[in-house]
Amino acid sequence: MELKIEGITKLYKHNTALNNFTCDLNPGIYGLVGPNGAGKTTLLRILATIIKPSKGRILINGKDITLNEDNYREIIGYLPQKLGFYRDYTVTKFLNYIGYLKDVDKNEATDKINNLLNLLNLDQYKDKKIKTLSEGIKQRIGIAQALLNNPKILIFDEPTLNLDPKERINFKNIISRLSSDKIIIISTHIISDIEYLSKEIILIQNGEKIIQNTPVEILKII
Ligand code: ADP
Ligand code: ADP
Repeated sequence: MELKIEGITKLYKHNTALNNFTCDLNPGIYGLVGPNGAGKTTLLRILATIIKPSKGRILINGKDITLNEDNYREIIGYLPQKLGFYRDYTVTKFLNYIGYLKDVDKNEATDKINNLLNLLNLDQYKDKKIKTLSEGIKQRIGIAQALLNNPKILIFDEPTLNLDPKERINFKNIISRLSSDKIIIISTHIISDIEYLSKEIILIQNGEKIIQNTPVEILKII
């Protein structure tokens, strides 16, 4: 699995959210770090094929995903900053519904959901209504829905934003158990949230890549 971001520019009416952004990624965990307004969400939305770039290409194993988006939703899992949850649904009902939307085979859905609930330590919440759960638990449900189609590329937009310190540690434990064959991109403006987790950190500012290197090297220069 190889992901190449080639010269991505995104222009909105009055500003340039991304400017000739280029980087190469292979399986492992990457931190996308930058201040508010740097262009993180815009980049992740382009990767998730939710919006299109004004210029540039995104190649997965050599194929440009910005051309025919539909085929790629299946190999990309995306956790947006704000998840539209079905507050009155139970956790199981919600995940079944997402499975249906993602076209997960009906015969496999129950097993997949049970495995994910187990992996994410959510077993005890499966029959609880989403509206009764804490932010940390909801975050894990969000990760479960992103993992449901067994994506090879996982994209998390500021996943630690609403978590308390204990939940942040929990999140890190869960993510470090996932990786190996997946490309995982985690955006944050707090470098300490991902410095021990990431193989590489990509610094972004004003829509431009500043540097991409190992956490050790990055921490030497900032
Ligand atoms: P980050 O996620 O790093 O905070 P964003 O990608 O949300 O950055 O935003 C990058 C820049 O693009 C900001 O200046 C933001 O105001 C602008 N922007 C983001 N979304 C839109 C939009 N839909 N329309 C116009 N400008 C946008
Ligand atoms: P982030 O926390 O990633 O910076 P924002 O809070 O800036 O995200 O953006 C929230 C929503 O507002 C997004 O849908 C984004 O596309 C939109 N948005 C952000 N900046 C602008 C802007 N300058 N003009 C129009 N829409 C914007």
